[in-house]
Amino acid sequence: MAQFDLPVILLRGLVLFPHNEIRLEFDNDISHNVLTQAELKDNNVLIVNQATDLEANSKIESLPLLGVVAHIDKKVTLTNGRIRVFFSGLYRAKVIEYSNSDATNISAVIEPINEVTNQPEELVLKQKLHEAIASFITMSPYMTNFPILNDLDKIKSLSEMTDMLVPLMPIDHNRFFDYLNELNASKRAEMLLKDIDNAKAMFNIDKDIDTKVQKNIDNAQKEYVLRERIKAIHDELGDTMDEVDDLRSKADALDAPDHIKKRLTSEINKYENTNSSSPEQAVILNYIHWLLDLPWHQYTIDNEDLKLVRERLDESHSGLDKVKTRIIEYLAVKQMTKSLKAPIMCLVGPPGVGKTSLAFSIASAINRKFVKISVGGVNDEAEIVGHRRTYVGANPGRIIEGMKKAGSSNPVFLIDEIDKMTSDYHGDPASTLLEVLDPEQNKLFSDNYIEEEYDLSEVMFITTANDINDIPEALIDRLEVIYLPGYTEYEKLAIAKTHLLPKVCQNHGLASKQFVISDNFILKIIREYTKEAGVRELERQMATIVRKIVTDIVINKRHRKQYVVTQKMITEYLGLPKYLNINHLESKVGVVNGLAYTRYGGDVLPIEVNYYPGKGNLVLTGSLGDVMKESAQIAYSYVKSNAKALGIDYNLFIKNDIHIHVPEGAIPKDGPSAGITLTTALISTLTNQKIDCTLAMTGEITLRGDIIPIGGLKEKSMGALRNGIKTIIIPYDNLNDVTELPKEIKDRIKFIPVHNYHDVYQVLSK
Ligand code: ADP
Repeated sequence: MAQFDLPVILLRGLVLFPHNEIRLEFDNDISHNVLTQAELKDNNVLIVNQATDLEANSKIESLPLLGVVAHIDKKVTLTNGRIRVFFSGLYRAKVIEYSNSDATNISAVIEPINEVTNQPEELVLKQKLHEAIASFITMSPYMTNFPILNDLDKIKSLSEMTDMLVPLMPIDHNRFFDYLNELNASKRAEMLLKDIDNAKAMFNIDKDIDTKVQKNIDNAQKEYVLRERIKAIHDELGDTMDEVDDLRSKADALDAPDHIKKRLTSEINKYENTNSSSPEQAVILNYIHWLLDLPWHQYTIDNEDLKLVRERLDESHSGLDKVKTRIIEYLAVKQMTKSLKAPIMCLVGPPGVGKTSLAFSIASAINRKFVKISVGGVNDEAEIVGHRRTYVGANPGRIIEGMKKAGSSNPVFLIDEIDKMTSDYHGDPASTLLEVLDPEQNKLFSDNYIEEEYDLSEVMFITTANDINDIPEALIDRLEVIYLPGYTEYEKLAIAKTHLLPKVCQNHGLASKQFVISDNFILKIIREYTKEAGVRELERQMATIVRKIVTDIVINKRHRKQYVVTQKMITEYLGLPKYLNINHLESKVGVVNGLAYTRYGGDVLPIEVNYYPGKGNLVLTGSLGDVMKESAQIAYSYVKSNAKALGIDYNLFIKNDIHIHVPEGAIPKDGPSAGITLTTALISTLTNQKIDCTLAMTGEITLRGDIIPIGGLKEKSMGALRNGIKTIIIPYDNLNDVTELPKEIKDRIKFIPVHNYHDVYQVLSK
């Protein structure tokens, strides 16, 4: 290969590749000298790129042994005397030897480098490179308008292509030397493909960051503009942005645990920074108000004078002596032990017996705030512990709602109707309630909406239920049950006189003294116009009479000193008597009074039996429960097996069908306590003997005729008295319950204890 010498131009900070052009300006004699020398060599020079430009005058021994032969295309002398020279790179050349006549005038003996070619491989690489660069150009803003793509098609060799592309690449300066020094075009192409890939990846990362940054700037700008606008609107409307300040000062003044104050601060900040058009703002504000409105450390001071408490209970409620005593005992123990483990009081009894009003009286007597919620019908635990804030329209549950209503951290909190909760797929509200009531857990009570812990340990929970049997079992364990079985007629009379009438008169703007009603008329209303264990209906009937009188006064201007209730007024205002106990006032064959215990108190449950020609079947009607059906079977078997002793013709069983029916639709008919009544009704019809209609009986019977004890005797006997019953046959083992009955009942009803059905038969035969 031919060797020749060329003047050398040292290039720093720039790299000239073959097939590229470069413009340089020269201003000194040395350079002029080089240019003159070049003219002697067909205007060719060797451009040597120095990796570093640390030294202005390099020693020739340390110069690279590779350069690019360039042609001087044009020279322009500028007005300032400098010469601008246009070079175009031709090919790589190997430096055989440098020489210098003086320190600056360098020339080199060179040998052009013929690049190795591999035709098929180069074709593929050319194609690949073309594609890669085309896609890179489309995504890179720096190269979009570059006309390189058009030129690439015209380029014949891969070597030329790579040399043309490399200077366009966004790569490090030193990397250019790698390309320059690589004499194999294929290798340069591979390097390029890799660098294009890297550049693409970098570009994508850049783009992501840019979008993020841009977004942040956009949001911040948008928010700023909106805030300024809101301010302007508020200014225009004359109100200021002091809502947030107001919330802050309320939060500062709030007596609450530290974690709540912290939460408030962060929520208020969040509120402030939330766009006012965003629905989230209302959600945050609602939450802030809840935290601000809840009583965190507001305690009322208990009245610990239990004598005074008792006096207040006596003032507000007639009778209920045992119940009040139990309540005072409960409060005493609570005071003495200061124990958080004291069970929760549960007042159990029919409606209208004063459970709610008694709880209220307890609260006012011990000087606590009072709040009541009802959990009857609740089947979703979220109703008790709230919905999470992410839920649309979420609010706290009833417990937190109650605390807010109470406005103190230690109210008397009445949870009504705990026997009427149901559990389904929404969860088990009973076990949730258990957590609320459990003193071990309720210090850290957590409502889904509030999210922060709320201390319920100072709250005095009282629960109520109509029927103890319907209270979820897990709950019963935590409860101290206090029964309010209902009132006798005379107790109701006393309540009516001392409480209901004064209250009703006051509610209707009438002085108590102006309204006169005799005891007999009150009793008449109790007996003939109400049928209840409590006094709610009685109160309503009284209110009806007083309302009519007041209307009469207002319309007809009939002002009098006193208004005396007469029989005529009762019939006129209340209509004809509703309950006359007609059913039980006529003794009939095959009809016997049983006694039922319902959630509304006790009641008389007459049982009818009849028979007619048939095939010995037993027919049961009256929607009986399974246990009562079994009782009927047992009674039937007992009567059949003792037919002879009971004076019954056994053929009656063979030739007839026997039909047992239990009327009185509203009473639930289940339980074993009608066994004795079913037996008696069967015997009555089969022996054709009437049973006294003022007699009732209750007791479970076994196949051998033993009578075993029953529950709810108090309620049953009150129901019996209301229905004109004079004698009740009871299991012997229930005799103890009789001693606890109100005197009025014991005076007016005769209780006959029996061990077995033989004893009953004896009573009936008398
Ligand atoms: P419950 O909660 O058991 O259904 P309430 O407490 O609502 O019953 O009582 C119904 C009404 O009867 C109230 O007006 C209450 O004051 C009155 N009441 C019930 N028992 C008595 C009582 N022993 N003395 C005075 N008022 C009573």
